[in-house]
Amino acid sequence: MAKHKTHYEDCDVLVVGGGMAGTGATFEARHWGRDMKIICVEKANIDRSGAVAQGLYAINCYMGMQWGENQPEDHVRYARNDLMGMVREDLGYDMARHVDSTVHMFDEWGLPMMKNEKTGRYLREGKWQIMIHGESYKPIVAEAAKKSADKIYNRIMITHLLMDEAQENRVGGAVGFNMRTGDYHVFRSKTVIVAAGGASHIFKPRAVGEGMGRTWYAPWSNGSAYALPIAVGAKMTQMENRIVLCRFKDGYGPVGAYFLHLKTYTQNANGENYEKKWYDQTKELVGEYIDHHPTPTCLRNHAFIQETIAGGGPIHMVTTEAFQDPHLETVGWENFLGMTVGQAVVWASQNIDPKYTNPELTTSEPYVMGSHATCSGAWVSGPEDLSPPEYFWGYNRMLTIDGLFGAGDTVGGSAHKFSSGSFTEGRLAAKAAVKYIEDKKAEGIKVTDKQCEDFKVAIFKPLETYQVAQNEITGGTVSPSYISPIQGLQRLQRIMDEYVGGIATNYMTNGNMLKRALELLAWLEEDLEKVGAEDLHQLMRAWELKHRALTSQCVTEHTMFREETRWPGYYYRGDHMKLDDDNWHCLTVSRRDPKTGKFSLEKVPVYHIVDENEKRKAS
Ligand SMILES: Cc1cc2nc3c(=O)[nH]c(=O)nc-3n(C[C@H](O)[C@H](O)[C@H](O)COP(=O)(O)OP(=O)(O)OC[C@H]3O[C@@H](n4cnc5c(N)ncnc54)[C@H](O)[C@@H]3O)c2cc1C
Repeated sequence: MAKHKTHYEDCDVLVVGGGMAGTGATFEARHWGRDMKIICVEKANIDRSGAVAQGLYAINCYMGMQWGENQPEDHVRYARNDLMGMVREDLGYDMARHVDSTVHMFDEWGLPMMKNEKTGRYLREGKWQIMIHGESYKPIVAEAAKKSADKIYNRIMITHLLMDEAQENRVGGAVGFNMRTGDYHVFRSKTVIVAAGGASHIFKPRAVGEGMGRTWYAPWSNGSAYALPIAVGAKMTQMENRIVLCRFKDGYGPVGAYFLHLKTYTQNANGENYEKKWYDQTKELVGEYIDHHPTPTCLRNHAFIQETIAGGGPIHMVTTEAFQDPHLETVGWENFLGMTVGQAVVWASQNIDPKYTNPELTTSEPYVMGSHATCSGAWVSGPEDLSPPEYFWGYNRMLTIDGLFGAGDTVGGSAHKFSSGSFTEGRLAAKAAVKYIEDKKAEGIKVTDKQCEDFKVAIFKPLETYQVAQNEITGGTVSPSYISPIQGLQRLQRIMDEYVGGIATNYMTNGNMLKRALELLAWLEEDLEKVGAEDLHQLMRAWELKHRALTSQCVTEHTMFREETRWPGYYYRGDHMKLDDDNWHCLTVSRRDPKTGKFSLEKVPVYHIVDENEKRKAS
């Protein structure tokens, strides 16, 4: 252990992850905590990290309140509809009422925004989306964080949260290691804001082998946002609500600008509008939800999946009409060049010019995240002025661990935040974290050297395991006494894919399959004690895998608990194929006991605050 030098840092606000939410949190923490010590720790390099690393072409969440375009209530109704009723409306409203101010700052900081030439307003791609030249989106927000933090640590992966030993259920900081130097870093902090992004690669991806890095959600999003709080006993919500995306095949190029701006549409291999074919069948499953406008994302997926199973594939996006307009053709290509260059390369390699050939679409493997069209994540307190008692325990966006806050993909229940809403939620969490410190809630935190030393041993153990076990390698990487991170990852992905509703089963699972998955995941957990890492990069892979595995357990437990098919098109419970509003119009909340590793689950009421308030006002 002596070869891994230990560094100690004491601070007030520790931000874990410098993506959209983390940069927002770091920036806002400085605004409210002028004299506080603010540290941001990032696994990659904050300038190009997270899901927005490559840039974006649209900011997907902007109300336009200054022009009366939308109000926060409208956004709550929209998210509620898209998630088949299951959202935390207090969190959604809170984000929506602040998100415009975030976007206006991006504009001031130099993010090139497209403008509507006639009105002078931001150019709309859709009701909620505004278009940007966003290749430099991430460096711009990173600069704001860099100017605000006392220090940004790049290339440090946080592996564990520290807990206060003086007061139960209170956070004390976090630990991790530098992937370049191999040094061990201890951050003792009064508050921690987890903003570590969602989880890709827990379900087997469509692209395997040499193509396995090609996923829709960022391949480096490894579920730390979930595993860190789960490991210390924080409550989680809606972890069953994984997302499946309809995207251009093989490159996962986004379809939003195509549908909304280019007005392209989909058809099956026979040139038919297949969606309407599945209307009656879908109505049988979900009732009147299929009549909602806009059609919930999962139900559109459902029609796609059913049509493919019925032999109507491949499904195509009709681009050949829109691309005859030179302006729309330019927008279509720029859309990829600003954020998913790989899709243009895939088309070139497959001889597809969308002006003359309609490109194929596919549905992705599932991902776990809290900021896009699903809302898996931590169970957090809402804002004082909006939240019902069950949803409020003192500080906005605080998890069920004192002093531990979350934002972006970390936070459950608040879907459709996207990049701007995640940054906004980071700001909200940071403001509350500063208040928590000012209210003297973080006094007398005790983190002993023993706690830190124990984590140090655990973190570097895969290097030690490999050192010894490499002598028993029988061929290639096969050894009876250790498993490599990639072997463990592929095993995890198969369990999730085949038993928990991945692409292998067309997103189908049931109680028996989930039970089996939990057994297999428990054995995997045991074997992960023997994961070996030959270098520091593999050490990162080992810890990414452990975080993915813990996240997967939680996803599986939640999927087993909710005995209905709430979101056909995201996954199906074959033994409970229908949406069941009588029994399951509620949020699911879990807690893993850190001592026993056992999960317990409960139903929590879902409050439709927006329209209830309106009804009350009217009466
Ligand atoms: C393909 C794709 C397209 C999208 N398109 C749009 C769009 O057009 N418009 C839009 O507004 N939004 C879009 N989004 C959504 C947007 O990117 C996310 O909502 C947003 O990035 C979520 O913010 P976050 O901070 O939670 O996660 P991220 O921005 O991903 O940040 C998480 C950060 O945590 C770091 N991290 C992870 N684990 C650790 C660890 N253990 N220790 C330290 N650091 C860690 C990561 O490196 C990363 O920097 C898109 C997302 C994807 C994937």
